[in-house]
Amino acid sequence: MQDNFFKISVPQGALPEKWSNYKNHQKLVNPANKRRLDVIVVGTGLAGASAAASLGELGFNVLNFCIQDSPRRAHSIAAQGGINAAKNYQNDGDSVYRLFYDTLKGGDYRAREANVYRLAEVSNSIIDQCVAQGVPFAREYGGLLDNRSFGGAQVSRTFYAKGQTGQQLLLGAYSALSRQVNLGSVKLFTRYEMLDVVVIDGRARGIIARNLRNGKLERFFAHAVVIATGGYGNAFFLSTNAMASNGSSMVQCYKKGAYFANPCFAQIHPTCIPVHGEFQSKLTLMSESLRNDGRIWVPKKKEDAEAIRAGKLKPTQIPDEDRDFYLERRYPAFGNLVPRDVASRAAKERCDAGFGVNNTGLAVYLDFKYAIERLGKEVVEERYGNLFQMYEKIVDENPYETPMMIFPAIHYTMGGLWVDYELQTSIKGLFAIGEANFSDHGANRLGASALMQGLADGYFVLPYTIQNYLADQIQVPRMSTDLPEFLDALKEIDAKIQKLMSIKGKRSVDSIHKELGHVMWEMVGMERTEQSLKAALERIKEIKKEFWSNVYIPGKADDLNVELEKALRLADFIEIGYLMALDGLNREESCGGHFREEYQTEDGEALRDDDKFSYVSCWKYNGEDTAPELLKETLDYEFVKCQQRNYKS
Ligand SMILES: Cc1cc2nc3c(=O)[nH]c(=O)nc-3n(C[C@H](O)[C@H](O)[C@H](O)COP(=O)(O)OP(=O)(O)OC[C@H]3O[C@@H](n4cnc5c(N)ncnc54)[C@H](O)[C@@H]3O)c2cc1C
Repeated sequence: MQDNFFKISVPQGALPEKWSNYKNHQKLVNPANKRRLDVIVVGTGLAGASAAASLGELGFNVLNFCIQDSPRRAHSIAAQGGINAAKNYQNDGDSVYRLFYDTLKGGDYRAREANVYRLAEVSNSIIDQCVAQGVPFAREYGGLLDNRSFGGAQVSRTFYAKGQTGQQLLLGAYSALSRQVNLGSVKLFTRYEMLDVVVIDGRARGIIARNLRNGKLERFFAHAVVIATGGYGNAFFLSTNAMASNGSSMVQCYKKGAYFANPCFAQIHPTCIPVHGEFQSKLTLMSESLRNDGRIWVPKKKEDAEAIRAGKLKPTQIPDEDRDFYLERRYPAFGNLVPRDVASRAAKERCDAGFGVNNTGLAVYLDFKYAIERLGKEVVEERYGNLFQMYEKIVDENPYETPMMIFPAIHYTMGGLWVDYELQTSIKGLFAIGEANFSDHGANRLGASALMQGLADGYFVLPYTIQNYLADQIQVPRMSTDLPEFLDALKEIDAKIQKLMSIKGKRSVDSIHKELGHVMWEMVGMERTEQSLKAALERIKEIKKEFWSNVYIPGKADDLNVELEKALRLADFIEIGYLMALDGLNREESCGGHFREEYQTEDGEALRDDDKFSYVSCWKYNGEDTAPELLKETLDYEFVKCQQRNYKS
């Protein structure tokens, strides 16, 4: 094995035996010792809240942090469409193996087999857990739980609560969390932002966090730290993520020695409301669930597309025979339910070829006319009413009467902190869960699988694996936060904040962030080339220089200061943007969401190079002025044969 390649150990046995084998042989912590062990969980989204509640229930002493004023306002609340599980309630051929296989294939064979199988295996327990909590999943007329379909699958395995699945799941996790807060096993720190992880003798031993209400920097010790801070899609400035979503904790951990894995694997979602102007700060998702019943099309004739763009023709005036249902045409087996990366590129291809709609030419239609004819308006309203309402409020058009306009936008990041089978990063005692880890989705995440992964990690995986680590920590006493490692970290953060405050330049944080976003979208976005990625690296270096010499932050550091919060996050997005471009440049193949124009099949599909790139890219920080080092975790496929993804037949 070449020296920068490494393998991790996963439990022995056939796929269905691995997780059980692990649990049967792992170390546990007895109840009396649990009380003596502190665990910090950063984040209260579905991953963080479920982990904190479960660890509290087990008897550990948990400190749980979040930026928002309530755990319930974590970005997870925005999740719309649903959560996958292999229950096979529809009796349509689903199984744990099929969910595992779809996920691995959907991710273009760039994920770890053992992890993905475990995810599929515990998916069913998530539904039981959430139903027990009272999550109001949609039910069929007879009272049984209903399912719908999501991209990349030919079965209906997605559980949902109208278009508010994330909100309902988060309320469930929040109620479990609140119970522990009440019992005293979890202490909540809302409006706190982690600014560094503290590492002592190679082990994570705490964090430094800023109290966002008064700007005070505070130190917290724990025997283990869990990062559940979500994804870094906002590096693109415009994204479907919540405004406060950020990648800072990942950069902090990376700079302390944790590997950053597959940073270039970012997901572009095909069904977002198109950008409508330069002053926009947020994009809105139209859930993938809409592709169950909505049909995607553009005009067949260029002159029709031109007339629509000029405002001379309405989509409803175009007869069926002049509509190009390009997904159904290109991918007959999966039709409108191809995975997101495939649907996004197909939309871009049509728009690039001159068939796009909206006044910009950067949109395609998602049409419910056919579903309304087939099912009636009431059924469509019942299934998607709140999404239609949201669309109408933003676009001022009634989607029951005229097709929605949609366009791809950045949505989810498959990359993140590298973790082993136990969800432990390359720093001992530092764990990462949910969207913050590089996760089980490979190069492309299938719809409704993020909620599944976040809750699998938080309710069912971490509560076991962390004990295997903590069992060796029972003799470690609580440490003082006056230790030099805490004080040094604090000093460094303070110096960074003072530096930012003292620049007093001419640019707002947002204007620089927007500039970064343009570079990311145009050069590191849906299609990348060697040339665009090299240019991006240069541009990002310039943006970094501009940021550190010309940003203006009003107000004071020791006070509530939203601009300072944004500046600290932007400093890290710049680092992440650079890593994304570097990783994309290294990966000379196309797979999932990473599409290098140079590597495609004759009919424009992603062309993998398994011989050279069947690995997880793990970037190791080597200091401010030294290039990061690339280590490669080999991906061995023992149980599944890697194939060219096919959604056509
Ligand atoms: C519009 C939209 C719809 C979606 N719909 C679906 C869907 O239907 N199905 C699906 O499976 N997935 C969906 N997703 C993806 C899914 O919602 C996310 O991947 C998932 O919710 C992430 O959960 P998380 O717990 O990892 O992180 P988040 O929910 O992002 O939570 C992050 C937490 O970390 C905290 N935090 C962050 N940084 C810090 C810091 N430095 N210090 C302290 N706290 C910090 C935040 O306050 C927050 O509490 C959707 C995503 C979007 C954007």
